[in-house]
Amino acid sequence: MTQTRTIFDRILEGEIPCHRVYEDEHVLAFLDIGPLSEGHTLVIPKERKAFLHELSDESAAAIGRVLPRLARAVIQATGATAYNILQNNGAEAHQAVFHVHFHIIPKRGERGLGV
Ligand code: 5GP
Repeated sequence: MTQTRTIFDRILEGEIPCHRVYEDEHVLAFLDIGPLSEGHTLVIPKERKAFLHELSDESAAAIGRVLPRLARAVIQATGATAYNILQNNGAEAHQAVFHVHFHIIPKRGERGLGV
């Protein structure tokens, strides 16, 4: 599973275009092609692993470092008052692309974040 080349590898290799939001040595973030809301962003490690529990400490640390920063950027860019972080592992958990990814899904509601 982990060795399978996915659509996200093709994005990482520049073979398929994406709307890039952030990139560093270990992480790429880009807009979801089928957004659940405006600003729906995907955050992926450059390491090719299907599931969260397979990730190296280095990739995990890199994602952990940027995720709050990216959530903040998404809030600011969209004016969201709330957001979901979603991370699916396995087909039964509705994972469609078998390369680790975090969804940042901005929401608008009556009860704000107070930011
Ligand atoms: P999953 O269900 O695996 O957690 O979510 C996979 C996500 O990848 C979906 O929200 C889907 O819209 C997104 N996606 C699939 N293919 C592409 C693509 O080629 N480009 C981008 N930007 N997003 C994609």
